[in-house]
Amino acid sequence: FNVLAIESSADDTCAAVVNSSRRILANVVIKQHAVHEEFGGIYPMSAINSHQQNMPYAIRRALDDSRLDIVKDIDGIAFTRGPGMPGCLSVGMNAAKSLAAALKKPLIGVHHMQGHALTSTLTSWPNEPKYPFLTLLISGGHTLLLLAKSNRLFEILATTRDESVGRTFDKVSKLLGLKWTNLGPGDALEKFCAEEIEVDHPSVPPFPRPLHGQLSYSFSAFHSHVTNFMNEHGGHEKVDILTRRALARAFQTAAVGHLEEKLILGIDLCKSKNIHIADIVVSGGVASNQYLRKRLVSCLAEYDRHTSYHLSFPPPHLCTDNAVMIAWASMHRFLANESDPYSIELRPKWSIEDL
Ligand code: ATP
Ligand code: FE
Repeated sequence: FNVLAIESSADDTCAAVVNSSRRILANVVIKQHAVHEEFGGIYPMSAINSHQQNMPYAIRRALDDSRLDIVKDIDGIAFTRGPGMPGCLSVGMNAAKSLAAALKKPLIGVHHMQGHALTSTLTSWPNEPKYPFLTLLISGGHTLLLLAKSNRLFEILATTRDESVGRTFDKVSKLLGLKWTNLGPGDALEKFCAEEIEVDHPSVPPFPRPLHGQLSYSFSAFHSHVTNFMNEHGGHEKVDILTRRALARAFQTAAVGHLEEKLILGIDLCKSKNIHIADIVVSGGVASNQYLRKRLVSCLAEYDRHTSYHLSFPPPHLCTDNAVMIAWASMHRFLANESDPYSIELRPKWSIEDL
């Protein structure tokens, strides 16, 4: 079964072809960072315009790369139904609906975070996680610790009370005056932290530990901490690079520490409820951060020397937005002969508990 999938919930225009034998036949991601760096963030109207310009080319390239014929070989069309920016989502949905109706193919609307959550069931095969597993989804719009009970049954164990971790990386990167890499501001911050330093780094005030001991996230205090420091010292142009790097590292350390602490609390909660967990999956754009990966691996090894959890991360290019995950998350429904009506509507706000 070959699925053509389209994803346009945020700033990347994506199209992919995946088959039911787990082969990724095409994965096209057209990024808009150049446009957004100009505005200092995702500016909805410009994101919609970019999707409108890029979508036909993303779809054409995905089909060309897959070497499949859309009439003869594509068996179903999937798209991201939500959550996300309504104007952006509608570009992908309309493309998917028009193709499906014109070609008489079944159509399925997918939950974006279900896509992120199920990616490793595709990429870790044959050692894919077994249900129930824990999944930490850390992205631009979400910070979620989920108990995945099946491919469509998720329970939220923790979420953020304010900002997402990804958005906080983006804002801190901007406050420090970092130039975006082609993977965006969060990636720029990671690279900045990883650069060698020549002398002892200057000390910066310690970061707070919000919601300590509680199974809930909060990142706004980290963000304010950096804002206050930079304001007190006259903004990024006035603060020397060594101090900015020390601050960036202290932020990254604190943010990852916050994620670690809640992950352990989540594992403890499952233990107390006698839910046996063997697999932990971390995905979403922030999961492409290599420092975070190393820290989580050693944190789990440290936590329990007797139980060996199997921790997995999709490859970095499938942690950030892509249409492969949308195709894959639709697959079990196509294979069960399910489909959505061509009149299906978007769900820009949509809880993953409500699939
Ligand atoms: P959502 O999935 O919640 O709708 P999104 O789709 O916009 O949000 P993703 O594409 O999954 O988000 O992830 C993008 C986020 O990941 C951005 O906030 C970005 O800064 C962050 N990010 C990407 N690479 C890194 C990195 N190496 N280190 C830290 N953060 C990163
Ligand atoms: Fe995403």
